[in-house]
Amino acid sequence: MNPEDLQARLRAMRTEGTLLRRAQEAARRFVAEAPERPVFPPPEALRALDSLDEPLPAAGAEPLQVLDRLDALATATTVNQHSGRYFGFVNGGVLPAALAARTLADAWDQNAALEVMSPLAARLEAVCGRWLVELLGLPAQTAAGFVTGTSMATFCGLAAARHALLERHGWDVNRQGLGGAPALRVVAGRQAHAAVSRALALLGFGLDTVEWVAADATGAMATEALPALDDRTLLIAQAGNVNSGAFDDFRALCARASAAGAWVHVDGAFGLWAAASPGTRHLTGGVDQADSWSLDAHKTLNTPYDCGIVLCRHPEALAASMQTGGAYLQLGGRRDPMLLVPDMSRRARGPELWAALASLGRDGVAALVELLCVRARAIARGLAAAGFDTPVPAVFNQVLVRTGEDGHTRALLGALQEQGRIWCGATEWEGRAAIRVSVCNWATDAADVAACVEAFVAARRALAGW
Ligand SMILES: *Cc1c(COP(=O)(O)O)cnc(C)c1O
Repeated sequence: MNPEDLQARLRAMRTEGTLLRRAQEAARRFVAEAPERPVFPPPEALRALDSLDEPLPAAGAEPLQVLDRLDALATATTVNQHSGRYFGFVNGGVLPAALAARTLADAWDQNAALEVMSPLAARLEAVCGRWLVELLGLPAQTAAGFVTGTSMATFCGLAAARHALLERHGWDVNRQGLGGAPALRVVAGRQAHAAVSRALALLGFGLDTVEWVAADATGAMATEALPALDDRTLLIAQAGNVNSGAFDDFRALCARASAAGAWVHVDGAFGLWAAASPGTRHLTGGVDQADSWSLDAHKTLNTPYDCGIVLCRHPEALAASMQTGGAYLQLGGRRDPMLLVPDMSRRARGPELWAALASLGRDGVAALVELLCVRARAIARGLAAAGFDTPVPAVFNQVLVRTGEDGHTRALLGALQEQGRIWCGATEWEGRAAIRVSVCNWATDAADVAACVEAFVAARRALAGW
C-alpha cells in the first residue's frame, strides 16, 4: 500500500468516528446483555477461537469488519465477569463508573511515565495515592506506585525492602549487585500467595533460604512460630489468605519486627480493603505499622484490569530501588510516576481508580466491602445448612467448601462447572481438595447467593450414587 494512501485512510477514519461509535455501541450492548450470557463460555463456543489461527494477512481487512469480528468472538467466548455468579479466583467485577472512565481514558491514550508526558495522568495517580493512604489508614508519608497488579506491587515492595535493608548495612545493591552482599533473611507465612515466591525468586532471594512460618487452623501466620527477627530480615505478612481470607496478626508481627529493625511487607491484594470498612477494620489492626503493602484495585474495589498499587512508608527507599540514576532526587518536586515503579511507558491507571473512588466515596467503598462479606457469609451459611463441609469461617469474602472425600469434591467441582449455573475453581486446604467460592463482585445479589447454594445441591445430586 502507498504510504500516503494509508495516512489518508487513517485520517478519514479518525474524522468519521464510525469505528469508535461502533465500539462504544458494542461495548454498551456487551455490558447490558451480560446477565443473559453464560457465566463461563461452553466448550463448543470456545471452538470459535480456532478461527483466529490463520496466517497474518498480506492485505488488511476493513477496520469495521475487524471490529465486528472481535465483537462477535468476545460475545461468544469471554468469561462473564459482569455476572454476579462468577466466583472464580478472586477476580473482581467492574464498577460502571470505573469502566466508563477507563473507556473514555483509552481515547486519551496517555503515557503515564512522566508528569511532562501527561500532567493529568500524574495528578490523578497522586490524588488516588493520597486517597488510598487515607482510606486504608496508612501513615501520611506513604508513597503509591501504580502497576499491573499485586504480583508487580509485591515485587516493588520487596525490592524497596532489599534496597533499604542492604543500604543500612553499607551496601548499594543497585551498584554492587548481590554477589558478596550482606546476607538478608526472608521470613514468610507458609500460605503466602504464589506471587510472593515469584517476586522473591526474581529478586534473587533463593526460595530454599526462605524461613517459612507455619499457619494456624484459619490460614493466618502462627505468630508463636515466628523465628527471632533481626535488622537483616524481611518479614512478609498477608492481609487476606487467598483460600480462607484469614488475616495475619499485624499488631504482634509488626511489634516484633519493629523491635528488631526488620522490614514488614504486607500482601494485601484483596484483603487490605478490609481497613476501609468499619465492619472489617478490626481484621487489619496494626497493619499501618508495616513498611510496605501491595494492593489490587481490580479485586475488591472492582476497577477494570489492570490496577495494582504498591504502597511504601519510605518513599525514598522505593524510589531508590527502582532507579539506577539519581533521578529520584526529584521526588520532592514533581511526582513522576515512573520513579516509583519498574515501568517507564505505560497506560494511565488513574482515571478508572479515581472514578471508582470519587463515585463511591469513603462510605461507598465501606459499603462495597461490607456487601462482599455479607454475600460470602450468606453463601457459607447456605452451604453449611445444605450439609457441605465449610472448614473455616468466612471472615471476609472467601468461602471454602469440600465434601467427604477428595475425589468427590473434585467431581462436585466438575459437575458445577459443567452445569454452568455458577463458576468457581479448585484449591487445596489442609492438603485436601477444596472448592473456593470467592465473592468479589458488586453485582452478586441475594438471588445469586441462592443460585450458588442451589448449584452446589444440584451438582451433588448429579453425583448421586458416587
Ligand atoms: C491475586 C493475589 C495476588 C496476585 O495479584 P495479581 O493482581 O493477580 O498480580 C497476590 N496475593 C494475593 C493474596 C492475591 O489474592
